[in-house]
Amino acid sequence: MQWYCESLTEYKRLKTREVKIGELLLGNYHPIRVQTMTTTDTMDTIATVEQSIRCIEAGSELIRITAPSKKEAENLLNIKNELHKRGFHTPLVADIHFTPNAAEIAARIVEKVRVNPGNYVDKKKFEQIEYTDAEYAEEIDRIRDRFTPLVKICKEYGTAMRIGTNHGSLSDRIMSRYGDTPVGMVESAMEFLRLARDETYHNIVLSMKSSNPQVMVQAYRLLVKTMFDEFGECYPLHLGVTEAGDGEDGRIKSAVGIGTLMEDGLGDTIRVSLTEDPEFEIPVCKDLVKRYTGRESSIVNRELAPAISKLTYDPFSYQRRETFTVDNIGGKHVPVVIADLHKIEKITPQHLQSIGYTYDEATDKWNISDAAADYVFTAKQLLDFELPGTLKVIVAPDTWNAAGDKTKYFPIFSDFHYSTATKKSDKLNFVMIDCFSNSVEFFDDRIVNDPTVVICLSSTNSNAMQSVRRMFAEIMNKGIKNPVVLITDSNWQTPDEHLIHFATETGALFLEGMGDGICLGYGEQSKMEEIKTSGRTYLDVKDIYQFTNNTAFSILQATRTRISKTEYISCPSCGRTLFDLQETTAKIRAVTNHLKGVKIAIMGCIVNGPGEMADADFGYVGSGPGKITLYKGKEIVKRNVNSEIAVEELIDLIKENEAWVEP
Ligand code: SF4
Repeated sequence: MQWYCESLTEYKRLKTREVKIGELLLGNYHPIRVQTMTTTDTMDTIATVEQSIRCIEAGSELIRITAPSKKEAENLLNIKNELHKRGFHTPLVADIHFTPNAAEIAARIVEKVRVNPGNYVDKKKFEQIEYTDAEYAEEIDRIRDRFTPLVKICKEYGTAMRIGTNHGSLSDRIMSRYGDTPVGMVESAMEFLRLARDETYHNIVLSMKSSNPQVMVQAYRLLVKTMFDEFGECYPLHLGVTEAGDGEDGRIKSAVGIGTLMEDGLGDTIRVSLTEDPEFEIPVCKDLVKRYTGRESSIVNRELAPAISKLTYDPFSYQRRETFTVDNIGGKHVPVVIADLHKIEKITPQHLQSIGYTYDEATDKWNISDAAADYVFTAKQLLDFELPGTLKVIVAPDTWNAAGDKTKYFPIFSDFHYSTATKKSDKLNFVMIDCFSNSVEFFDDRIVNDPTVVICLSSTNSNAMQSVRRMFAEIMNKGIKNPVVLITDSNWQTPDEHLIHFATETGALFLEGMGDGICLGYGEQSKMEEIKTSGRTYLDVKDIYQFTNNTAFSILQATRTRISKTEYISCPSCGRTLFDLQETTAKIRAVTNHLKGVKIAIMGCIVNGPGEMADADFGYVGSGPGKITLYKGKEIVKRNVNSEIAVEELIDLIKENEAWVEP
């Protein structure tokens, strides 16, 4: 193992223990299983069965159903029987929070139970408690007494278990000792895992979910390392970004978190949590999984990506790579976005609307959005209109020579041509390097010591992310401080596939502090026009350029490297949900989507919602039929507000806290 995975430079799956869930085998190199969770009331047997069938038909290999109390746990039998009667034998998973009694009933009925170690034994009171080591050990004994009966039932009935830690719902005990950190998340699961192993029970899967992909990635990696250090083996991993939200943002956040770990070869089953009907999660899961089909058998990549011998960054915590500043790139600047418009034959002011610049002829003024690209790449085209705001243009060297305004136009060279070029900008030069065919050994000193050079890294290797990551490791080893822009092309076909590709390839690197800019494009094999005609409702975009620009900004937002819009943390909903989550999320989004940087949580129930809101600034939480409780951070500020007026009350709350701006 290399630190936490089989290889940092090629795709190799991590070997995990084999787990049996009914007839389904998981881990130990079995295919990566996809799954989802129902959103119906568990007491409504027929609605739950019918939704389960829609999910199964979409390809879900496991169906999770909430069991908040004993009566729902008991009703799992009716659901299971009805599914069997209709010819469906997909394993069912009972989702348990707070209720060991329900877990002990469910474990006798369904193939798997999920317990949350943050609330299986403990009620969350947000208390800070100082434990001595002896007191802490007593707490573990208390957990043993409450948890072991469930383990014994699972052993007896052949039931599998997921120990599912959530960043937002760690116990007060863990929070007091470790804080809400990846270390705390790992320890939370390990406490339960050790107790299960004491009973020689191993039919276990683990998860480390967070709505923040950065925290989630670090926690899973640390979990793998901790398991190997302590047991010399690893249990299968269930990957997911929790409360990811809906539409493009939900998909990108999920792909950044799940995709980064899958690139590391981690993950035996995945769930993409979207605030949409659960069957819509399955195609996204499948798009993520299919990227790895056949990847391991690629001999070419093994030859061309030598191992990293010295790790120059910490994969368990975030630190941005240190660079010097070139113009507005690198140093303390947020990563820049470069829009690739070179395929447009004649660029007009209207084209810039897709990348955040809207020209108003009446006033002769440009309106610039928070998600406006910083640079455009036009290749051989000089623009015949005045550029808006701080927008700058990247062009081929000959075109740059011909450009009049050298403060707005900058050249891009290949590495070879830069070293031999006689005319260069004295302010900013972009130099392209393909990590597939280059090693840092061959970097010309004229490039790395030049304070005007921004390196543009791309890779044509099919393990592209790994080969760029390896280049970064070498660059850092050599102490090279030039800023780096990540260039990624997609050769996929559908909007979802493109989103997932871009989010995985670049998100994985931004999460590791690598990258001072992003430029997304399309290879010859992609069908760009399908972006416009795909008919996907979440893609409310004008054209391919707007789609690409939005995607770039969403990746930076998901990796928390550049905040350009409101952040929504909305739960996927389940049988506990007390209002129409999709409709409410859309309503809240419509009136708050101009609040750049504000984090708003929309949670279906008051039992789990407040705990799972993670670091939201404001929370809108269902607290009873037709009732909403509003939060500022973790603190209740308005209790049981009538849902008819709750969105207005939320706006008032945001205003009272001076986080509101007029649209
Ligand atoms: S927060 Fe949402 S998904 Fe989680 S238990 Fe409550 S309603 Fe279900």
